[in-house]
Amino acid sequence: MARVLVGVKRVIDYAVKVRVKPEKNGVVTQGVKHSMNPFDEIAVEEAVKLKEKKLASEIIAVSVGPTQSQEVIRTALAMGADRGVHVEVSAAEYELLQPLHVSKILAKLALDEKADLVILGKQAIDDDANQTAQMTAAVLDWPQGTFCNKVEKTDAGLTIVREIDGGLETIKTKMPAVLSADLRLNTPRYATLPNIMKAKKKPLKKMTPKDLGVDTTPRIEVVSVEDPPVRQAGATVADVDALVAKLKEGGHI
Ligand code: AMP
Repeated sequence: MARVLVGVKRVIDYAVKVRVKPEKNGVVTQGVKHSMNPFDEIAVEEAVKLKEKKLASEIIAVSVGPTQSQEVIRTALAMGADRGVHVEVSAAEYELLQPLHVSKILAKLALDEKADLVILGKQAIDDDANQTAQMTAAVLDWPQGTFCNKVEKTDAGLTIVREIDGGLETIKTKMPAVLSADLRLNTPRYATLPNIMKAKKKPLKKMTPKDLGVDTTPRIEVVSVEDPPVRQAGATVADVDALVAKLKEGGHI
C-alpha cells in the first residue's frame, strides 16, 4: 500500500479581493483571510479516497510556511490525513520562497518518509506558478502525472487521465510518482466538526528547511508588483444603430 505525501499551501482566500502594497513589492497579507489552496483540497481528497479504497496506508500533509500554515495542515488532518509536517519559515522568508525551494523540501521529505506518491495542487492561486509538482518530480527523478482528471491504481502503477488543451490524455506510469490535481479530479469533502476536533490530536512535526538541507536563498528578484489596468466603465446603447454609431465614433469600425 502506498504512503502518500500531500502538499498544502496557505494562500489568500480565493474570495478575497487582493490589494497591492503601496511599495509595489507584494500584496497585502496582514489581516486578510487565508485558506488552504483550493487545488490542495482536491489533492488531499484524492489521497483520502485512496486510503478509503485501501490503496494508501498513510497520508502525510506538508506545508512550508510561517506559523499560521499549521492551520491548513489541521484542515488536511480533519479531512483525513494521518499526520502533518510543518516546515517553518518566517513570514518575510515566505514572501520570497520559490517553487524550486518547496520542490527540494518536498523531494527530501518524500525520500525521508519513504513516500510512494506525492500529490500536489496543479497550481497555487497566489503566485500561479504551476511549477512545484514538475520540479519535485525532476528533483526526485520520478515520473509525473500533472493536471490529473482521474487517477486509477493498477497492478503496474497508475493510469492517469490528464486535462490538456482541447481534451483529455490518458497515460500510464509506475510508482513512485508525483501527481498534480486539476479542478475536476474530485469534489473535496468538508471537514466535519468531530473530525476537526480529532485532528487537533493528530501528530504534527515541526522542522526547518535547514533540517532538510535545503537552502532557501531567493534566486529570483521581484522587481515590481502592480494592479491590473483599471477597465473603463461600459455604456448601454438603445439599439444596433446606436451601437454602430458608437463604434464608428470610437474608431473601432
Ligand atoms: P505552484 O507551483 O506554486 O503553483 O504550486 C503547486 C502546488 O505545489 C500547490 O498546489 C501545493 O500543492 C504545492 N505547494 C506549493 N507551495 C507550497 C508550500 N509552501 N507548502 C506546501 N505545498 C506547496
